[in-house]
Amino acid sequence: MKIVGTIAEMRALCRSAKLGGKRLGLVPTMGALHEGHLSLVRAARAKTDVAAASIFVNPTQFGPTEDFSRYPRALEKDCAILEREGVEFVFAPAVEEMYPSGAATWVTVEALSDRLCGKSRPGHFRAVATVVAKLFHIIEPDAAFFGQKDAAQHAIIRKMVRDLDMPVAIEVCPIVRESDGLALSSRNAYLNAEERKSALVLYRSLRRAQELFQTGERNSAKLIAAARQEFASESNVRLDYFEIVNPDSLEPVLDTPSPSLAAVAGYVGNTRLIDNVLLGA
Ligand code: AMP
Repeated sequence: MKIVGTIAEMRALCRSAKLGGKRLGLVPTMGALHEGHLSLVRAARAKTDVAAASIFVNPTQFGPTEDFSRYPRALEKDCAILEREGVEFVFAPAVEEMYPSGAATWVTVEALSDRLCGKSRPGHFRAVATVVAKLFHIIEPDAAFFGQKDAAQHAIIRKMVRDLDMPVAIEVCPIVRESDGLALSSRNAYLNAEERKSALVLYRSLRRAQELFQTGERNSAKLIAAARQEFASESNVRLDYFEIVNPDSLEPVLDTPSPSLAAVAGYVGNTRLIDNVLLGA
């Protein structure tokens, strides 16, 4: 496995790996890898001929008061894991390599970028779309693998790829959870024992909406109200949003057509976590 820090070398390696018609799969990550990331790597290995991963904690997608400086970083351990998983190239550039001084170009997916997490994290999705566009230009993957965990992110990337005619297939993999339902996240490492218990309220609220949906309730306001109720008993957790939206446009829906996306975000102590389920999928 090759660990690459420069754009020029990564581009050259990936181009030569694709010679002879081999299909290249990319798994973009911010590192601190867990089983959720590995499910994407395994999908890339299964569906393409050569698997590449990127590890880049992208500073531009963090707000000024967010956790960029303390975000978990574990490059050596991550690379050992990726090697065991059969990844051929790891792209782990420095910030200055990705953003030479004076960089001034952004990719903005209008409207979608202001929905769900985009409301409370202004500029976040513009930064995500820009860094993913850069990775696609550098690596030129045939397919890129994203987690359903970040449902708004993959909706935005799918739209970007369509709107800008990028020749890459976007593959979405299911959410990997702990046995008690908590969605795996690199940020779970921030939680103390008590917060770890409180964090389950996110999944509980989604399950509440899902159960009601399964009994036939289609009024989104009622599903949301029931889900929000779950937060009343969790003083450790501050709800950011619970919304039911169209999975492609991320626009709120009133009568929960199938499929709809129930998405939740909340602060468990100081840690911001997200989760979602598809209703009627
Ligand atoms: P991150 O390193 O958090 O930027 O995530 C990199 C990729 O892994 C994104 O496409 C995420 O959606 C995906 N991912 C993160 N957590 C999970 C999970 N629990 N299950 C499946 N995919 C995940």
